[in-house]
Amino acid sequence: MKSDLAKRVRGDFPLLRTSIDGRRIVYLDSAATSLKPQPVIDAICRYYTEVGANIHRGKHFLSEQASDDYEEARTRVARFTGFLSSEVVFTANTTASLNMVASGLGLTGDDVVLVPFDAHHSAMLPWRRAAGVRYIPVSDTGVADLDAYAALLRARPAVVVLTHCSNVSGVYAPVERMAAMAKEAGAVTVVDAAQSAGHRRVGGENVDFLAFSAHKMLGPTGVGVLCGRHELLRRLAPPFLGGGVVDWVDTERYDVRKVPHALEAGTPPIAGVYGLAAAIDYLQAIGFDELGEHDRELAGAMVEETLARPRLRLLGPADGTDRAAIASFAIDGVHNLKEIAKILSDSYGVLCRTGHMCAQPFVDRFTDDEVLRVSGYLYNDREDLDVLFSALDSVLDFVR
Ligand code: PLP
Repeated sequence: MKSDLAKRVRGDFPLLRTSIDGRRIVYLDSAATSLKPQPVIDAICRYYTEVGANIHRGKHFLSEQASDDYEEARTRVARFTGFLSSEVVFTANTTASLNMVASGLGLTGDDVVLVPFDAHHSAMLPWRRAAGVRYIPVSDTGVADLDAYAALLRARPAVVVLTHCSNVSGVYAPVERMAAMAKEAGAVTVVDAAQSAGHRRVGGENVDFLAFSAHKMLGPTGVGVLCGRHELLRRLAPPFLGGGVVDWVDTERYDVRKVPHALEAGTPPIAGVYGLAAAIDYLQAIGFDELGEHDRELAGAMVEETLARPRLRLLGPADGTDRAAIASFAIDGVHNLKEIAKILSDSYGVLCRTGHMCAQPFVDRFTDDEVLRVSGYLYNDREDLDVLFSALDSVLDFVR
């Protein structure tokens, strides 16, 4: 690989110092959750060691500090996504963000919502509960069928959900173009950017709602983001009532605060928000140009290595389709992939994932079995892939 990013940043990730039986671990499970660099861990520790107070509650100086830092983080997320600060809601994760929109828009079973066939369950099931879902079909290589999509838009859907990057195939959908088509058809657009937010620029003028999780972009678990256009955010029914979301209460009535606060009931994940802000700073210091170039090289090498092994059946296109460093494959003659993943982990220190990847309808369309998924990020390089594939070759020699 031309990119030397992994070599430069590895020292920032304490978990990569872990070894098993003297072998360094090779972490290839970043699509599930990324590792955290020291500055993110430090930011979380700084909150607990130096600030510690609740936000928006007291007038003492620590509470004011916490509130200022929390709101400053909101501003940083706004700059990162191109939304306004008042359009950024802190949630628990992508799943919570998407549920908040699906259940808050007041849809009924008569409303049509388009959902990508390769959607993660979190971008699919909340809409199935709230409205009438139609799927945006995928081609035989797992790429969104844009002609079928254009035809579906003629039904004037109320909402179009788009997955920026599939967590199974790693394919990037042409989200800007698809969102523009949806807007032209009069739909509200919702983009699941869980897999892309830490990798490339997200959003754009035609995106009404954008959802992502801190933990997949070097930040901590327990904090997510929902960005939404102001007038649409105001339409959302607050999913929870209680402290933090009301200005005034008597025994009969209450006044709900303005958005985004109306959507952040109770004490939020304050430490997590400190960590998210630090993660954004870390990613921005590298820049999306370099991150993108690194991802592209890693993705190309993953596909090449997978295709070079006839027993591995890559799920997704084998051509130069725009994709992330994510490769999922079934293995001919192997039904118990969990066993393979366990051996890779315990004997070779290679950590990857097996299953339906929370996108079961999509995986089931291509294979009767589960898949093994490898996913890389800025701290992975060609050497990691060499360790993975040579370990896999050795394991598969024994499994026929
Ligand atoms: N959407 C996609 C594409 C994902 O990959 C994931 C997580 O794997 C989610 C949504 C859900 O994210 P979270 O578990 O952080 O809510």
